[in-house]
Amino acid sequence: MKRITVFCGSSLGTEKIFELKARELGKRLALENIELVYGGASIGLMGAVADGALSVGGNVIGVLPKFLRLKEITHEKLTQLILVDTMHERKTIMDDLCDGVISLPGGFGTLEEFFEMLTWGQLGLHKKPIGILNVNGFYDELISLMDTMVKKGFLKDSNRQMVLVSDSIDHLLEKMKTYQAPSVGKWITKETI
Ligand code: AMP
Repeated sequence: MKRITVFCGSSLGTEKIFELKARELGKRLALENIELVYGGASIGLMGAVADGALSVGGNVIGVLPKFLRLKEITHEKLTQLILVDTMHERKTIMDDLCDGVISLPGGFGTLEEFFEMLTWGQLGLHKKPIGILNVNGFYDELISLMDTMVKKGFLKDSNRQMVLVSDSIDHLLEKMKTYQAPSVGKWITKETI
């Protein structure tokens, strides 16, 4: 993996561990020579992951919509800042640039970006690994909802397995490196029900 896109909160959250893990992830990617792609802001966990990577000389590419430049406060020290016009353009570029994605704790924006990558994967539009760094159990309820989706017949187990989860950066990166996308598509036929 040459580049990983990280989705995460534009806020810091209530637990210090969120920020610490975001910094640690940024650092770890840089030390593995993996470039970081993210939303380009200096605030919240977004700023923390970028600062972590930059602190050890990593390359960081920010992709920021022009209209968010003030609200999300552009990070001034990035290796490269790509300014775009729309949110859709932002996500397309973040996808084009990366070989995999990781979600850290976050809010609606983080989940929106994460689920879009997941649904694109489910439709076979890409075969990239999609990971959740489940810091301090932040995503436990979401993971349990995904299991409910399988149980209640809305999600195939093979697609559920696309979501790689760990609370350890090492373990998550290991899972991502060996990931094989499912060969079956999303669409459930009569025969497979
Ligand atoms: P949040 O998790 O809500 O703090 O948001 C994290 C990041 O997701 C921020 O940079 C938001 O601007 C971004 N975001 C929110 N909605 C979208 C969207 N529809 N497309 C792309 N980025 C988004």
